[in-house]
Amino acid sequence: MPTVEKDVPFLSRQEVEIRAADVLREHGLESIPVDPVVLANRLGMAVYNAKFSDDNIVGMIAKRGDQITLLVNQSDPPFRKRFTIAHELGHHFLHLIGDGEFVDSEANLFRLPQDDQQDITPQRRREIQANMFAAALLMPADAVRSEWKRLHSVDAMARKFNVSEAAMGIRVGQLGLD
Ligand SMILES: [Zn+2]
Repeated sequence: MPTVEKDVPFLSRQEVEIRAADVLREHGLESIPVDPVVLANRLGMAVYNAKFSDDNIVGMIAKRGDQITLLVNQSDPPFRKRFTIAHELGHHFLHLIGDGEFVDSEANLFRLPQDDQQDITPQRRREIQANMFAAALLMPADAVRSEWKRLHSVDAMARKFNVSEAAMGIRVGQLGLD
């Protein structure tokens, strides 16, 4: 069991956005596309490709003292790996206060509602928050807004930010740009 708060606080999207923007600024990652592996490495974490016994697992983060290891499913496509790593970093910043780990299945990352944190278990609330963090990290709100003015195309934006078109489509909608 991860060492995390028993009651997972409701974090608004805005609060998660601010947290992610602070992280990018503090670690000097302000150019697009954001490389979550570089961020993990700057935080002293090792990131490895792994073959999990259960192929529904997309990634995990494990913290033991100063040692933090992040694993990502080696057979996932690059876009998905980037999102998974960013999601695990979300757990690091938002949820992992002591030693512990999160093991994430595809359902945690790619089949959860984008926003609604009401009436759900603390576990699922954490997953939604980690997904919000991942989107804000890979598609920083300010950068998305300014690039949208120039490109005005989800496809072109997806290429620019090195994310899937599906992820960018959702992000553009969240920011009220479409
Ligand atoms: Zn997760």
